[in-house]
Amino acid sequence: MKTITLKARINSARCIGCGNCAKMCPTLAIFMKGKKAVVDEGRCLACANCHQRCPVEAVTLEKLDKPFTVRAVTRDFEREAVEAMCIKAGFNPGQILCYCTATRAEEVAAAIIQGAETPEEISFRTGLRMGCSVECIQPALRMLEAAGITPTPPEGGWQWYGRTPVLQEISQEVKSKYNHRGFYFDSDIALFAEVVKSERR
Ligand code: SF4
Ligand code: SF4
Repeated sequence: MKTITLKARINSARCIGCGNCAKMCPTLAIFMKGKKAVVDEGRCLACANCHQRCPVEAVTLEKLDKPFTVRAVTRDFEREAVEAMCIKAGFNPGQILCYCTATRAEEVAAAIIQGAETPEEISFRTGLRMGCSVECIQPALRMLEAAGITPTPPEGGWQWYGRTPVLQEISQEVKSKYNHRGFYFDSDIALFAEVVKSERR
């Protein structure tokens, strides 16, 4: 969930057409028209990536007249499928996946069930990855995988950092190596299952 109060605007006279902003926008809200960047304002969720990384300060963030909130809400008939997808991906449905925007796993699952098939579309529907924009591609990819969807990375693979393992995927070899060094993998897995179960009661 994210409340949007700003939108990006390009100063065409300053834009040198490097394309950086279009490559790093998490919702694919920027495209190049000839040698100039253009913002699709309906897709801009004000993460400020373009503003921060434009080499010639051609992007400004302007205040919206009417702020709005993006969030994916689980409909009653989707509840079971949402929970199943989160658990398959190794997440508690109530778990926060994106700390910048406090987007929860259940929200991402709901977005996928409601039609999101790429990390960019998940970002657009939930606000996930609209803060630092670095880490949260991983849970998005993991959740898509749990839904049986394999999205294609955008050209050049910008902002596409792949996925890291979750607790349940750690091999016995690794567990044995680190168990005596203060890690409690099996206990944590059991605790995770207990938390998920208690929240479903
Ligand atoms: S990053 Fe700046 S200079 Fe480069 S295309 Fe975007 S607006 Fe233009
Ligand atoms: S979503 Fe972020 S990167 Fe994309 S246009 Fe808006 S502020 Fe720029």
